[in-house]
Amino acid sequence: MSRQKPTLVIKFGGKVLRKVPWEDWSTDSRSKTASAPRKVSWTKNFFKLKKTLATSGRMSGKKPTLVIKFGGKVLRKVPWEDWSTDSRSKPASNPRKVSWTKNFFKLEKIKKTNCFNLATSPLSSSSPSALSSSAGSSPSRTPTPEKTMKKKNTDRVNLPTSPSPSSPSSNVSSASRTPSPEKTMKKAHDVHFPEFLKPFLSVSESTEQEKAPVVKIKRTYPRVYNLPPYLQKPNQKYNFSIFSEEEKKRRREERQKANEEKMKQLKMEEERREAEKKEAERMKMQKMEAERQAKKKEGMHLLLGKEVPGIDYDDLCHKIDSRYSEWEADRQYERELYEREKAEEKRRTILQYEADCYGPTVANHLRNLKTFDEMQARKKEEEERKKNEGEEWKMKKEEERKQRVAEANRRWNMASPSADHDKMSDSTNSNYLLVVESCSLKIIKREDMSNQYQEIHPITDEEYQKTGKPIPTNKYNEETDIWCPHCSKYYWKFCRRHPLYLVPNGSIEDGPEDESRAMRSVPQEFVEVATSSLKGAGKGVFARKLLPKGYMFGPYEGERVEDSSQMKTPGYSYELDGKDGPYLIDASDENASNWLRYVNAPNKKEHQNLYAVQYNHQIYYIVTKAIFIGEELLVPYGPKYWRGK
Ligand SMILES: [Zn+2]
Repeated sequence: MSRQKPTLVIKFGGKVLRKVPWEDWSTDSRSKTASAPRKVSWTKNFFKLKKTLATSGRMSGKKPTLVIKFGGKVLRKVPWEDWSTDSRSKPASNPRKVSWTKNFFKLEKIKKTNCFNLATSPLSSSSPSALSSSAGSSPSRTPTPEKTMKKKNTDRVNLPTSPSPSSPSSNVSSASRTPSPEKTMKKAHDVHFPEFLKPFLSVSESTEQEKAPVVKIKRTYPRVYNLPPYLQKPNQKYNFSIFSEEEKKRRREERQKANEEKMKQLKMEEERREAEKKEAERMKMQKMEAERQAKKKEGMHLLLGKEVPGIDYDDLCHKIDSRYSEWEADRQYERELYEREKAEEKRRTILQYEADCYGPTVANHLRNLKTFDEMQARKKEEEERKKNEGEEWKMKKEEERKQRVAEANRRWNMASPSADHDKMSDSTNSNYLLVVESCSLKIIKREDMSNQYQEIHPITDEEYQKTGKPIPTNKYNEETDIWCPHCSKYYWKFCRRHPLYLVPNGSIEDGPEDESRAMRSVPQEFVEVATSSLKGAGKGVFARKLLPKGYMFGPYEGERVEDSSQMKTPGYSYELDGKDGPYLIDASDENASNWLRYVNAPNKKEHQNLYAVQYNHQIYYIVTKAIFIGEELLVPYGPKYWRGK
C-alpha cells in the first residue's frame, strides 16, 4: 500500500500559487480556522484568490488553474472558468463547472475504496493515464504530524503570495479541459441522486439496463450537513429507477399528459360545480321572487279584499313593498336596540366582574353608590307623593267648600224664593252663614257648612263684626239694641249665640182681596190662620213648616192710641215706650192691623213658643222654642199686656 496522497496545487501563470495537502482539504466552506486550523476549503481559497486578483487588476488575460496532483502526477487540471463554489451544481445548467467538493469527494471515494477504477470515476475520463498510474496506491488517512505541520506552513506562506504576472497560462487553458459531467453520468449508471452523496452510498450495479440499482448508505459521515433524513439511516435500502432517455421522455410525456388530463378534469369539475351553484342561486332567487310576488298579492288582497278594476296595482304593490321595507326597518331597529341593550348588559357585567376582580373595596364602593342612588330616588319619590297628596287634599277641601256653598245657596233659594237673589248672591262672599241647626238658628263659619245645616240667610263679615255686643240694661238704645230672651240681655243688633231671622210680613197686595188686611198679611210660606186649638180662642196661627228658634215675626201693626181708654177691643194692644212717653198699639181692627193679632196666648206658661220684644219702637215675636209643622204659635201677652188690660 503506497503512502502517496493527492495534493491540491493552485497555479497561476505557470507558478504554484498554493499547495494544499490531502489532510487539509475541507468540504465545508465555512469551517473555522480555530476548530480545525489546517483545513482549507475550496470556496475559501477560491474567494480569497478571486478577491486578490480582482483588486490588483491582474485578472486580465491571466487565469489561475487548479491542479490536483497525486504522487507527483497531475491528476486533474481545472481551468479558472470551470471553477464553481456550488457543490451541487447540476451538469445540465453548466456542464463545465467543477466544484471543489465534487472533486474532493470523488477523490476520497477512490481513496476509500482503494480501487481506482477509472472507468467508473468521472475523473478518469479527464486524465486516465494519471489515475491508472496510481491505481495500486492506497492513501493513508492518518498523515504523520511533521508532514502536516510542514504542509500547514506552506499553506500559510503560499496563500498571500500574489501570482506573478509574467508567467503565461495559455498552455493550461483548453488542453486539459474536463469533459462535461453529463457525458460522465451517461457512461455511469444514470442514477439520480446528488453527486456529493455518492461517497456515502454503495451502489450495487445491475447488469440489466432497466433494473433499478440497490443503493445503500455506507456509513454516516459526521462532516456532512443537511443530509436528507431519509438518507441518514445507515444500511437502509433505497430503490432508484433507471430508464433510457426514450423511456424517460415517454414517461415524462405520459406524466404530463396525465397531469393535463387531471387538470382538465379538475377544471371541468370546477365548472360543473360553478354551474350548479349558479343554477341553485338562480332557483333560490326565483323562489324568493315568487314568494315576494305571492306576498305582494296577498298584501294587495288584504288591502282591497278583492281585485278592483282600474286600480294602479303597480303603485299599490310599490306601496305595499315600501310598507314591508318599513316593517323590515322597524324590525332591524328593534334588533339593533336589542343588540345595544345586550352590549350594555355585557358592559355592566364586565364592570361588575372587574369590580369583583379588583377586590371587595371597589365592589363595596359600587354597591354603596347604588344604594345611595336608590335612597335618593326613593326620597324624591316620597317628596313628590307628599306634594301631590297635599295639593290633592287642598283641592278636595276647596271642592267640598264649594259644594257646601252651592248647597247652601240652593237651599236658601228654595227656602226663600221671594228673596232678592242678586243681593243674596252678593253676600255669599261672607265668611259667615246663618243656618238652621236642629230647631234653632246658628251662625257658623262658611267653611263649616255641611249638609246638616240649612242656610237661611248669608251673614256678612261686617254684620257679624257688629253683632253680639252686649249692652247694659240701663244704657240700651231702643232703636238699635235688642233683647235676647235666652240670655236676658240687650245686644247690639242681636245676640250672637242666639241669632235672629226676621220673617217679614206677607205682602198685603198679594193676599186674597176678599179677606181683611190682617188675613192678607200672613206670610203663607211659613204660617196659616185656622181655628185655634185653645177652647174659645177663635182663630189661631199654625206653622206650615218648621219654625226654628230665632225666627222673628213682625212688626206688630195696629192703630196708635195714647190711652187704654181709647182701645176698641181689649186683648189686642201693646204698650210701647215712645220718646214722648208710653203709647198703645191697638190691633182690634182687622183692617188696620196684621196677622200677628191672631196669635193666641197659651193657657199654661210652658206652652209658649214665642216671645214678644220691642225693637225700634215696634213689637216683634221671637220663636223661643222650635215650632213644628201644624203646631200653634203661642205668645204670652206679658206683664204690660195684662197691665194694659
Ligand atoms: Zn242670647
